[in-house]
Amino acid sequence: MKGEILIKNAKLADGRGEHGSADVLIGEGRILSLTGGDASTVLDATGKVLSPGFFDPHAHLREPGQEVKEDLQSGLTAAAKGGYTDVVSMPNTSPVVDSAEIVRALKEKAAQIGRARLHPAAALTQGQEGKILSEARLLREAGAVMLTDDGRTNEDAGVLAQGLQYAASWGLLVSVHAEDAGLRRGGVMHEGKVSFRLGLPGNPAYAESARIARDLEVVRYVIQGPGMEALRSGKSLLHIQHLSTRRGLELIRQGKQDGLPISTEVGPHHLTLTDEHLESLNPIYKVAPPLRTRTDIEALVEGLLDGSIDCVGTDHAPHTQDEKELDLLRAPFGIPNLEVAWPLLYTELVLKRGFPLPILIERFTDGPRRVLGFSPIHLTEGAEASLVLWQPNNQRPVEPSAFASKAKYSPWEGWMLQGWPVLTLVEGRRVFASEPLL
Ligand SMILES: [Zn+2]
Repeated sequence: MKGEILIKNAKLADGRGEHGSADVLIGEGRILSLTGGDASTVLDATGKVLSPGFFDPHAHLREPGQEVKEDLQSGLTAAAKGGYTDVVSMPNTSPVVDSAEIVRALKEKAAQIGRARLHPAAALTQGQEGKILSEARLLREAGAVMLTDDGRTNEDAGVLAQGLQYAASWGLLVSVHAEDAGLRRGGVMHEGKVSFRLGLPGNPAYAESARIARDLEVVRYVIQGPGMEALRSGKSLLHIQHLSTRRGLELIRQGKQDGLPISTEVGPHHLTLTDEHLESLNPIYKVAPPLRTRTDIEALVEGLLDGSIDCVGTDHAPHTQDEKELDLLRAPFGIPNLEVAWPLLYTELVLKRGFPLPILIERFTDGPRRVLGFSPIHLTEGAEASLVLWQPNNQRPVEPSAFASKAKYSPWEGWMLQGWPVLTLVEGRRVFASEPLL
């Protein structure tokens, strides 16, 4: 059998488990064989691990209109470097992604760039103003995979209920930034001991849990409507973005036990950093929702382990250096993390805490794919060759100056991590290769 790339001696690990070493022959966009064969390019992957490509359900790539922060070229290159083959982009751009034309234009441009694949999310409401629903059917036909007003909160529960019904009828998932705007107010960090000591406006954990509680009641209401049973068919209708609190997790876990069609994600920062980092007053730690406490981290890790949390979503949210260097009150929320998410969580969860590797891989691959209605990718003959090869042993520090993202800063700067991707393939095509492999 003749292929294009032969990856020799790679250890295989996917969402189902670890499968020992194999010689993986790739051609025609697929895994042709796991027992070798002829290929024009042969790579020795001894000591490296081959996994399905990562899928990010939540990234801000800032195009159109905010290219000073990030654009498709830099964002999708950063994603490929981070081992991601697929990225869902958020629609809170300028203009907002609320029309089929913009969705199509984004998809066409991303295809030309040829790095990670782009799956645009579109706005749930026109202009993300929370009033008039956008055209779910047209957005779906243009290639949108999700409807969300992320960047903003959905204050009107009636609009959310209608949006869920409408989106479900066109097979679209709705995702929400679940924070109660009234409880959050002007909070710039988690409300607790640290915010009180610093005298900074706090954002209480209850801003998130109160909104999740309301949204779950909206889902309970919506699924009782006529015809909804057939539309659900086991899929998630409502996805709660960037979960940050123990209390929010408890509500979601209960909702899932009650059979609600819901899903959720957690970000790398909410699993590794706490509000105590804000003691430095450095806005590099300013994210929305805010960094919480050690107790929240423990609960979120447990939720990721037991499946209450379906997937890891980066919430990659780049801003310019100038914006991020404003004082803590004025600096915008968000950090870039597409390029560190995998090595960070591999190091901090798998290596340091014994979190099972296949489960972490599942939360980066099958989990998000399932939430969004995509087929899983497993390492079997005939599978789509959208894959990442990564290095479990080589330790190296996070170096933001080398980021492909335009945002060249990181709260993890200098952290020594393992698990760095060295090769990312999208349907057998190299979209990232570290230098020794070029
Ligand atoms: Zn958000």
